Amino acid sequence: MAQTFAVIGLGRFGSSLLESLINDGQEVLAIDNNQETIQEYMDIATHAVIADAQDEDSLKELDLPSLEHVIVAIGHNQQASILATILLKDLGCKHVIAKAENNLHARVLSKIGADEVVRPEHEMAQQVANRLVSPNLLNYITLSDEYSIGEIKISNFEFVNKTIADLDIRSEYGLNVIAIKAHESFIVAPEASYEIHIGDVLTVIGTCDNVQKFDRLVT
Ligand code: ATP
Ligand code: ATP
Ligand code: CA
Repeated sequence: MAQTFAVIGLGRFGSSLLESLINDGQEVLAIDNNQETIQEYMDIATHAVIADAQDEDSLKELDLPSLEHVIVAIGHNQQASILATILLKDLGCKHVIAKAENNLHARVLSKIGADEVVRPEHEMAQQVANRLVSPNLLNYITLSDEYSIGEIKISNFEFVNKTIADLDIRSEYGLNVIAIKAHESFIVAPEASYEIHIGDVLTVIGTCDNVQKFDRLVT
């Protein structure tokens, strides 16, 4: 079933988010204070309205608390982003995601009650850096400050043609292998007798430290 969203501010980030959500079949109310911008997205968004997100009365008229997610995608005008976020939380919006321009802006947004803060350029830069530094770490999910899941491609011959038990992965590396993507199969909860081959992709869970250490060893 479709979820309901509002995207406030249709800059590069807001408009890309709007398009992705619409392509995904979600219901999206687009809001911007620039008339030409709203004109441009009128046929794409489910609804599109011109409104100043710093203006409490305008926001009230839009019945935003009835929506499941509201994204404040105004970044450059930090004052507008901060005021809009406070107003939305005060109005009772359940899930407000705010885009920050920099670290200080992100801290302010968190303090005033944003449920989630994103820094697209920063996050994408980290991803690109990780991909370049650790090309065999195909995917990395942070579960908490301490734990993560990594999808790691085996390209080191020392790890090849040995079973999970031979390598004693749980005790030696502090990791649990939860799945393996092999040449033509996908194995969930592999047996200790599974023999690892070059190019296998292991999904492992453990401390962030152990996942990263293992990635360097098998690369
Ligand atoms: P990006 O980097 O994603 O392009 P940005 O925040 O750097 O975002 P801006 O052009 O500053 O880019 O802002 C994004 C959009 O937010 C613009 O379309 C702008 O018209 C809109 N916007 C700015 N202030 C307000 C406001 N007070 N109310 C509603 N929309 C606003
Ligand atoms: P344990 O007592 O450590 O659970 P076990 O005596 O039950 O192991 P096996 O299940 O045969 O013996 O596994 C032998 C070793 O293989 C384990 O000690 C562990 O290091 C490793 N191992 C087995 N399954 C996994 C897994 N899914 N992820 C990581 N390591 C595993
Ligand atoms: Ca920007």
